[in-house]
Formats: sequence, structure tokens, C-alpha cells
Amino acid sequence: MDSNELISISQPRLPDGTEGLVIDVLRSGRLAQGPMVERFEALVGAITGVEHVVAVTSGTTALVAALEALELAPDDEVITSPFTFAATLNAILEAGATAVFADIGPDFNLDPDTASRAVTPRTRAILPVSLYGLPADMTRFESLANDRGLRLIEDAAQSIGSSIDERASGSFDIGTFSFYATKNVTTGEGGAVTTSDESVARRISTLRNQGMRSRYDYVVPGHNYRMTELQAAVGIPQLEDLGAVTASRQKNARRLTSGLSDLEGLVTPSIPPGRTHVFNQFTIRVTSGSPITRDQLAEHLSRQGIASGIYYPSLVFDYECYRSHPRVRMSSVPIAGAVSNEVLSLPVHPRLSDDQLDRIIASVRSAFSA
Ligand SMILES: *Cc1c(COP(=O)(O)O)cnc(C)c1O
Repeated sequence: MDSNELISISQPRLPDGTEGLVIDVLRSGRLAQGPMVERFEALVGAITGVEHVVAVTSGTTALVAALEALELAPDDEVITSPFTFAATLNAILEAGATAVFADIGPDFNLDPDTASRAVTPRTRAILPVSLYGLPADMTRFESLANDRGLRLIEDAAQSIGSSIDERASGSFDIGTFSFYATKNVTTGEGGAVTTSDESVARRISTLRNQGMRSRYDYVVPGHNYRMTELQAAVGIPQLEDLGAVTASRQKNARRLTSGLSDLEGLVTPSIPPGRTHVFNQFTIRVTSGSPITRDQLAEHLSRQGIASGIYYPSLVFDYECYRSHPRVRMSSVPIAGAVSNEVLSLPVHPRLSDDQLDRIIASVRSAFSA
């Protein structure tokens, strides 16, 4: 492998069977939602152990459908993480509810204690995000939701295949997945909602198809959130191969961790007991104890042909369009604020060679010793 070759932050790995399955769809004459999508849904069900899976067009529409299924009023509150992708917040707003934020913990995910203190009589749901491939503390969120009579939606866009206390990410009340190009399983664009609640599943299937219960029987103003057969065909071999992809990401993460964990001021990802991490991202923190800043490290890597990513550079609500929004309730979240200035994600995807991983390690080490 050429030692100057660019190392990208993500690169999909499509198993050998993919082309054949896509050609099967092209030749079948059926391109819109059909038997391939059903196979896709059954595989997501097998991975999550959840009874009902509804495949949709994206992780964002999965979130919107999950929230709309709860029939929220404008002053109904949904508590979520301030340290997430804009889609999480946009979905709450699109579903017509009010977004409330609580701080994160050292796992980068919404903290159950601060979330518990943010509950008001108007709270209807808690929406933790399982960031970077590490599930949020779903066991505690489940108790909190049960105690306070709330619904729980896990934004599992980045965490397919991970688990907490031996239960799959996405198997707590309602889960949402994304199959965007940078996720551990990709269909280009795509998503899914998982739930064991049959009535929620039925409402989401209805919302996916224009609000139609049976032919031309409209029961709710709905959407077109249907996945295509082509998307499903691209995803099926990856779902079948998920164990191998996850093992490869975990192996890469272990190599990066052992190469970097002794550096002063650099914090490598930690995995709380009872959880598995599927490393959609390998995210370090460059703290004030480091000889260089996060941005200097990113610049140094880039000069050596190594991509890195800042997920996310600001709190999700800290933009003009949200600051003045009547249904965005900003709050003080000091941990999330500090972490957003420290995080840097390094390449960890399954197509990296050991030589490339060692180049990443050497480059970070040289930046810290310069
Ligand atoms: C990717 C992502 C989404 C949105 O998924 P799309 O498929 O891009 O719509 C939502 N939440 C999180 C945390 C994500 O990473």
C-alpha cells in the first residue's frame, strides 16, 4: 500500500453478493417497496431482537415517524442530547413538539441523572442518542421512562449491532436507525424504526405510506417514507455480514487505543461495563493537558493525508435558526460545551490496513511530541 495514499474517514465495505442482488432487483421489474424490503426488515429484526421493523427513507424520517406515532402537541416536551447531529433536533421540530436538552456524561451520551431533572409535567418522551457506536445508558433510561410514564426513543443511527446489558441497541421501546453512507450499514440513504409495540409499529407503517391503512383509506395525514427495493438489496449483504464488520471496527479501535492511550492529555474512548461499542467513529478528546489543540492536531493529520472529523463542533441548538425558535428550549450543558471543543474522530473503518492504522498512530504521536 502506498504510504502517501489518502486515508479517508469512512469508506463503505460492500460484500461480494451485493451486485448480484441489485441486478436481481433490476431484472425483477419491481423497484418500489416489496419483498427485498421485507427481507431487509427481517434482518434488522434478527439483529435487534425486535418484533416489528419498518424500513424508511432515512434516519431522519425514522425519527420523525417515531415521534409522530406518539401524537405530540406543540408544548409536549422531548428531552434529548445537545451533543448530536442536527437530524435529532430537526425531527423533534418537524414532529411538532418542543425540544428540551440535558447534559451528557463521560460516555458522550445523554446523562440519565440530568435528563431525570429535566422532566416536567409536559415531558412526553426521552430521546437519547447512542453516539459514535456506543449505546446510551438505555437500561437506566428505561427505568426512568417507566417510573415517569414517558416514552423512550433511542436514536441508534450510529449504533447498529451494539448492546447494553445483553440487549441490542434499538430494542428499548422505540429505536431508529440510519443507513446513510457513513454508517456501519449503508444503503446510500435509508433508515428503519424498530419496536416491540404493535400499535406504534402499525402507526409508523401507516405514516410511511401516505397515512393509508388499506387502499385509499386515509386515517392520518402521512408521508412517502418508503424504502426502495434497490436500497434494500444494497443493505441486505451488509446486514448479513454485520458481525464481521463490527469485529473489524473493534479490532481497529483496539489497535488505535493501544497506540495512543499513553499520550498526555489525549483521552481514548472508554467502554462502560455492560456495553459493547461498534465504533462507527473512534473519537478521542484532546484536552487542555495536551501540548497541542484539537484543531492543530486535525491540521497536522490533514497535512499527512489523514482525514479526521469533528462530530460535533457546536451544541446542536447553538445556531441562529434554533436560538430564536419557539419550540427549542436551550439550557446550560457545560460538559457537552467543553467536549465539543475537544473531540476529534480518527479513521476506524473496516477497509483500513494495519499499516494505515500505524500511520495514523505515528502521525498523532509526532504531533504530540513536536
Ligand atoms: C446520521 C444520523 C441521523 C440521520 O440519519 P440520516 O439517514 O442521515 O437522515 C440522525 N441522528 C444521528 C445521531 C445520526 O448520526
